[in-house]
Amino acid sequence: MKSLYKKAYLFGSPISHSISPAMHNYSFDKLNINARYEAIDISLDNIASINQYIRDDYFLGANVTMPLKTEVIKLLDKLDITSQLSGSVNTIVKKDGLLYGYTTDGAGFINSLREIDIDIANKHILMLGAGGAARAIITQASLDKAASITIAKRINHGFKEIETFISKVTDETLIDINLIDITSDTSIKDAVDKCDIIINATPVGMTIQGSLIDKSYLTKDKVVCDLIYEPDMTKLLTDAKKSGCKYINGRYMLMYQGALSFKLWTDMDMPIEEVKKKYFS
Ligand code: NAP
Repeated sequence: MKSLYKKAYLFGSPISHSISPAMHNYSFDKLNINARYEAIDISLDNIASINQYIRDDYFLGANVTMPLKTEVIKLLDKLDITSQLSGSVNTIVKKDGLLYGYTTDGAGFINSLREIDIDIANKHILMLGAGGAARAIITQASLDKAASITIAKRINHGFKEIETFISKVTDETLIDINLIDITSDTSIKDAVDKCDIIINATPVGMTIQGSLIDKSYLTKDKVVCDLIYEPDMTKLLTDAKKSGCKYINGRYMLMYQGALSFKLWTDMDMPIEEVKKKYFS
């Protein structure tokens, strides 16, 4: 049966709390685009069921969230450079009958820094964590000419995998990337001292209480970013505020990564100021 509109989706689990359907449907309506965006709860066990949506003639595009960002790659035809390097997809686009995977998480994060007047170029970055979001940001920051990146992670968790990722990114972008043990206080203090921007890409501060950075290490010349947006002020951000640092949570990253996905699907700009006012202030 013919559909009366194009269809866009969010796939992942859990997704019932997501703001993405409201933000995208509002933007479709504002720009008179005949499309609807729907969140579909899909876990790793039934990831193959995504095929019925993305192979449909009326499929416009999709977002992919946890826990599917890596596994979804096997359902796609081609990958953009950011997904090839990061091994992560958060956006599916249909072009000439083929399904392409992109990640807009990295560019969405970097665009969000505009809100605090920060440009990532030539900055020394300390990244806490090396999961999907961290790898997407590291990839984009490397392509956008950050000066160096220090990744802090637990050395007993998938160290080999991250070393492979680092060599792929350094081969492509020639950026200087170092790996340190997130549990070593001396290494962390040294990395904080040397960096311009600290980014928390772990769940510490959300599902796990506390902060990975001792408050006494923070000085007011640091920019402190937390990808977490619920709570809107994690312990790390509260400490950053008290120390006089510029800081930002993950809320605007969510908005900007969505805006970039929207552009890839429609070739039109999301009405960002209106979306910001309605859903993000
Ligand atoms: P992920 O793939 O599961 O990666 C999580 C990372 O955190 C891993 O590197 C893991 O370390 C590390 N980690 C977990 N618990 C830790 C602990 N107790 N101590 C030290 N490191 C720990 O998750 P993700 O998708 O990258 O998401 C990471 C965070 O970003 C989450 O809080 C998520 O909500 C947020 N996020 C926000 C947005 C947004 O739009 N604002 C988008 C995506 C993600 P190991 O490598 O050592 O296992």
